[in-house]
Amino acid sequence: MAAKACSVLITGANRGLGLEMVKQMVESPWPVRQLLACCRDLDGLRAEVRGLRDLAKKHPNVITVLRLDTTDPCSIKESAKQVGSLVGKAGLNLLVNNTGVLTHGTMQTTSTQDMQAAFNTNIMGPMDFTKVREFLPYLQAAATASEKPGMSCSKPAVVSISSTVGSMATVKEMYSFFPMASAGLNMLTLCATEEFRKDEILFVVLHPGWVCTDMGGEGVSLTGRSVEGLLSVMDSLTEKQTGAFLDYEGKVMPW
Ligand code: NDP
Repeated sequence: MAAKACSVLITGANRGLGLEMVKQMVESPWPVRQLLACCRDLDGLRAEVRGLRDLAKKHPNVITVLRLDTTDPCSIKESAKQVGSLVGKAGLNLLVNNTGVLTHGTMQTTSTQDMQAAFNTNIMGPMDFTKVREFLPYLQAAATASEKPGMSCSKPAVVSISSTVGSMATVKEMYSFFPMASAGLNMLTLCATEEFRKDEILFVVLHPGWVCTDMGGEGVSLTGRSVEGLLSVMDSLTEKQTGAFLDYEGKVMPW
């Protein structure tokens, strides 16, 4: 793969797909120079948080664990300051919006509060990241620092992990608000693609498959297989895919 100078930020990196991404990025030939692994409960005692801290101890020159609650504007601002001083002039190459919550309710059973919570995590958090005062300057700095033409994940890129349940083409009756939140994230990505095209920032939505995590439950894919696929797709992205919706095998998904 690409340039050996990639700085990457992953949200929700303490468990599930996020933690597996951190693991595979540092333990595979992924060209990651600096990996900023974000989670909201840094001092948590849960096994997964310890897993992330252990990984960071094992790779102290690459992984920095940062506190970040994507629904809290103060937390976003605080982490943005830290990211700025960590990445410096080289900027941030790859931002992976991975946090998500699943709401199982239907229209009739989901409360407005649950709906707001899902929208806050799944849409507003990713949107706040890309806003001017937060992470955008670091992505723009990565574009300026790169001497290579075109777009890729080793130049500035924002990858949002979303879901095919957000696809208008395949509406399912089982839940209402997770698909709505996923669809919102997908549309946000399309809008950002156009708004930041001039800044040469690549935006893409990736569907990880149905994966065995706390969210995915029994799933059909193991996190390892899904993340292997996601990283391979990220590795292959160019300006041709900006604004695309792909799955972890690189297949184009219907909006
Ligand atoms: P998990 O439930 O296993 O992990 C979710 C992660 O998001 C956790 O690290 C959690 O942190 C974090 N998170 C949630 N809310 C916040 C918040 N406000 N601030 C910071 N972190 C937060 O989910 P998965 O790993 O399965 O899912 C990852 C992504 O993949 C999600 O966006 C999901 O929608 C998507 N996806 C997953 C599928 C699957 O089958 N697993 C299918 C389709 C899409 P904490 O531990 O603190 O709660």
